[in-house]
Amino acid sequence: MNAPEPELDDLYKEIILDHYRRPRNRGELARADAAAEGVNPLCGDEIYLQLLLDGDRIDAVAFRGRGCSISQSSASLMTEAIKERRTTDAARLKSDFEAMLVDGATPNAELGDLEALQGVAKFHVRVKCALLPWKVLGEALVGRGGDVTVSTE
Ligand code: ZN
Repeated sequence: MNAPEPELDDLYKEIILDHYRRPRNRGELARADAAAEGVNPLCGDEIYLQLLLDGDRIDAVAFRGRGCSISQSSASLMTEAIKERRTTDAARLKSDFEAMLVDGATPNAELGDLEALQGVAKFHVRVKCALLPWKVLGEALVGRGGDVTVSTE
């Protein structure tokens, strides 16, 4: 089953396609402190995420995966947004991103280029694609010891 590609604003489409074609932080870390993986069976998307932590700071992040442009560009944009940030900031970005896509919240300025995925909110099937990397991030953050609160809203 092929879901139709969302019709997105041209500028946003360009950002999404750029991250899909030239994903940032794609690959594997030699050493990682936290990792998680997830699949979106509706679309066949797969994401494997690794984090290298220095205390509560995300020093490095890498992902591998396959699937549609929305899932893979969301992963690439996410890694750019959380790299060199505190894990608590990453968890907050996750909540803001989910609020934008699930509740239709106005994107917070901190989301930056992630706002490009806002148009996906209109396409319920594709929201799962965009959220997959963030759900995986939530798992990775919780898995490292449970001292990070991730909203499951
Ligand atoms: Zn997908």
